[in-house]
Amino acid sequence: MRTREDLRQALRRIDGRGYPAYRDLEGSYDFGNWELRLDRAQPDPFASPSRFRVRVPGPAAGLPPEALATPLRRWATGDFLARAFHRALPRGGSLGSGKSGLIFIDAGEQEILPRTAVRVEPDGTVEVRFAAGLPAAGRRILGRAAEELLLERIPRAVAGSLLAGAHDRRALSAHLAAAEDHAWLQERLPAMGLVAFVADGSILPRESGVSQKPLPGAVPWVSPPELRVTVEFPNAGPVTGTGIPAGVTLIVGGGYHGKSTLLRALERGVYPHIPGDGRERVVTRADAWKLRAEDGRRVEGVDISPFIAGLPGGTDTRWFRTEAASGSTSMAANLVEALEAGAGLLLVDEDTAATNFLIRDARMQRLVPKEGEPITPFIDRVRSLYTDLGVSTVLVVGGAGDYLDVADTVILMQNYRPADVTARARQVAAELPARRQPEAPVPLSPPRPRWVDPDSLDPRRRGREKVRARDLDELAFGAESIDLSYVEQLVDPSQTRAIGGALLYALRQGLFRDRPAVAALAEALRVADEQGLEAWAGGGVPPGDWARPRLLELAAALNRLRTLRVLDREEGGRRPGGRRR
Ligand code: ADP
Ligand code: MG
Repeated sequence: MRTREDLRQALRRIDGRGYPAYRDLEGSYDFGNWELRLDRAQPDPFASPSRFRVRVPGPAAGLPPEALATPLRRWATGDFLARAFHRALPRGGSLGSGKSGLIFIDAGEQEILPRTAVRVEPDGTVEVRFAAGLPAAGRRILGRAAEELLLERIPRAVAGSLLAGAHDRRALSAHLAAAEDHAWLQERLPAMGLVAFVADGSILPRESGVSQKPLPGAVPWVSPPELRVTVEFPNAGPVTGTGIPAGVTLIVGGGYHGKSTLLRALERGVYPHIPGDGRERVVTRADAWKLRAEDGRRVEGVDISPFIAGLPGGTDTRWFRTEAASGSTSMAANLVEALEAGAGLLLVDEDTAATNFLIRDARMQRLVPKEGEPITPFIDRVRSLYTDLGVSTVLVVGGAGDYLDVADTVILMQNYRPADVTARARQVAAELPARRQPEAPVPLSPPRPRWVDPDSLDPRRRGREKVRARDLDELAFGAESIDLSYVEQLVDPSQTRAIGGALLYALRQGLFRDRPAVAALAEALRVADEQGLEAWAGGGVPPGDWARPRLLELAAALNRLRTLRVLDREEGGRRPGGRRR
């Protein structure tokens, strides 16, 4: 293998030459007790930066054995090291044109996620994947600046974050504890009869609409005595907090008292959070789904008939398709698709729901005959979702008091403090009957798994494969663009990139050919969990900027692809169809 001295000589040789000469540097270099690898030199200074890897063998990385003991600890250590590497990057700015000299590592934000930026092997080997701009002035190679980047900046970041002795052991151990305690409780919530846990002292509000950092000076969470439980975390030990029971839970209260803030914390509680976030011990069932309205979305072959039937014009809602759903039909489709993808908890906020999907009160029932109203409102389905399908709901309602009739638990938010008002709510419901007629006669059954036509997923644009996340909310897929703006539990653009990888992987492997769509995506996820997310990239240079999406978000992306065709149900999923007959 070439050495760092060879690299220095090579840089001096190509100094001043045309930019493509950087390609000659591709390959590995021995830096003593670690290795630098240039996987792909960028074609010009303004293209995406060049792809690098740093590989540190176990003994040189010197990670404590606890950090390597389980798969979870290894990926959480990877998440930790990506952040440490990012912090250790020298502050120095650009070293020339474009991105010259800049280093990019996918270090993540508040959530701790399995990500491809750092891979930690069971033997303690650490591999960091990052990008950097090879320096140039215009299109001429700046050899000196490249020396500064490759022989100074990168080695300093490696020494400051990846080598034995560089690790902040206490911070690492706190990071692992946060991830592990979260996963530990998440797995046990169902057996405890809970859908979520919010530890006392948690800080739920965020700094602003655009920052997920904790709000300074916020009122910490204090459990209502009736809902207080003590959890014995493996790392943190006993912690008291609010156990939100399975079933139907309402969050009520006046405007601006912290209802949506609590719901949003529960949405994010499916992921572990970094120490200091304030939500480290907010833990929500892994299969929670934020259910909301999304008018304008496309829907393809979804059976929304349990919620909406008899649309004007005779549309068959057992096989519903539209290019632009309304508020209520989009919400029904979002719900059925989430059930199909295995959701076990629905999180609903009145603020982002379609009112006519949620409720029809007694007066509307009298004025508009049932035959003229296609919607069976959620209020008449929310109990059977739980009793027939085992799916719980947490619903924020400020206005729709009829929901008191269907709730198991009612939490009142007042000045950011929760109170259990379940008993009082029962009393109110008895004193002031809602007088509405329940509208859902037949029990619910699980949605039929849909098969998709793989040919309807074309990742090519003008003949070339093009799948790229533009940002968190937008995934370019061939000639299409998948809009994920309303998929609210997608939290990291690296997840969006990984979703692109997963869809391509499922297609290439032919996973959609012999099983329903959700099963195909689940299989892709199983492979990634076993081998690492980079398995989706199918060999070659591993991506450095992917983070694990959940099955629910994978399915959500597929469902939002506008070219998607669902196969005809009568053909057992063998034949493209899906047209109404
Ligand atoms: P609601 O949904 O009840 O109308 P929100 O959850 O939107 O209320 O909260 C209203 C405001 O109060 C938000 O700006 C939020 O950041 C702030 N807030 C929420 N919880 C707290 C808290 N625990 N401490 C301080 N401010 C909070
Ligand atoms: Mg609100």
